[in-house]
Amino acid sequence: MPATGIRRGWTGAGPGTLARVKRIALLGATGSIGRQAIEVIRADPELELVAAASRSTAIDGLAPLTQTGGDLTELLDRAEPDVVLNAVVGFAGLAPTMWALEHGVSLALANKESLVAAGELALRARERGGGDLVPVDSEHSALFQCARLGEPESVVLTASGGPFRGRTRDELADVTPEEALAHPTWSMGPKITIDSATLANKGLEVIEAHFLFGLDYDRIEVVIHPTSIVHGLARFRDGAAIAHLGNPDMRVPISYALTYPDRAPLPVPPLELGTLEFHEPDADTFRMLPLARLAGERGGTYPCAYNAANEVAVQAFLERRIGFLELPALVEDVLGRVDGAPARDLAELVEADRRARSLVPVA
Ligand code: NAD
Ligand code: MG
Repeated sequence: MPATGIRRGWTGAGPGTLARVKRIALLGATGSIGRQAIEVIRADPELELVAAASRSTAIDGLAPLTQTGGDLTELLDRAEPDVVLNAVVGFAGLAPTMWALEHGVSLALANKESLVAAGELALRARERGGGDLVPVDSEHSALFQCARLGEPESVVLTASGGPFRGRTRDELADVTPEEALAHPTWSMGPKITIDSATLANKGLEVIEAHFLFGLDYDRIEVVIHPTSIVHGLARFRDGAAIAHLGNPDMRVPISYALTYPDRAPLPVPPLELGTLEFHEPDADTFRMLPLARLAGERGGTYPCAYNAANEVAVQAFLERRIGFLELPALVEDVLGRVDGAPARDLAELVEADRRARSLVPVA
């Protein structure tokens, strides 16, 4: 398979102007990423939506093949796509991530939880499959593009800081789901929006960067950058640091991942330059960030346990069964109780996920 991704379909756009069409399978089509992806695909004549899936909302007619619920790999087997855009939320995205990596089908990955949880298993599957893995997460898309210019020695992930940036622990004790869902710069699904308020999202992204770029954790830095204009910065051995800037708009990394290694036009306003601010994150208040580093450095299935416990705790917070500060406390407790032994196969990984979930006393 060519490194540029497989392109099976051809559409005649007139003599001598044959355009290659990439066939896309979109998983999580009704979500925040999914809906923006549909917009990107419809506007680009070189992209064709051949299959779409969602969890509960019927999506008949959206694509030639659609599926609501069920085993997502069955849909992928039938669709034979050139690119899988995995925009499912949570550990439920594991099977399609592994399917694309094993089959050498290009994977446009929004579902960071699957890479965080599967880690080495995912990297080994990618080696066997030999396909592209292009991140959709804006920071990682930025770093992926910087990394095409050389091998980074270290990287910086930016974080907006979420709606509670600058608050003390005391001020966080009574915050409500509604307050946590009001994100200052990005409009996203509920789970990742809560993750942004706790900084668990940045924690997951540190682990995601470790697996994507093969960097030790002490070479992955996080800075708070409230306006989300700089998405990522890579440092190189000659002292150069290359940053990727843009307005916060997920259509940009979605389009990049779908059209890689090309770039398609998008109706995004040009970036206007202003003052750029950067601060240290408050790791004492936002414990999910240092806990992710701890899980990442321990390795094995600790990242899987971090993710699993977080998913359960986020759901409990959204349903008002726990307070905001209980979230990191529950995850820390689970990390102290699992053995973190590496998973030798997917069955062991699924078991590690199940076990971590069962240890959160709110289910
Ligand atoms: P969302 O909640 O808006 O949408 C999730 C989608 O996944 C929905 O279509 C839902 O039906 C589908 N889904 C969930 N479980 C499923 C299952 N078992 N089978 C089939 N479909 C299932 O979430 P989102 O904000 O679009 O985020 C999706 C993923 O992208 C997450 O992993 C998130 O971390 C990542 N991401 C999102 C953004 C963003 O701007 N929203 C940015 C970066 C990364
Ligand atoms: Mg991100």
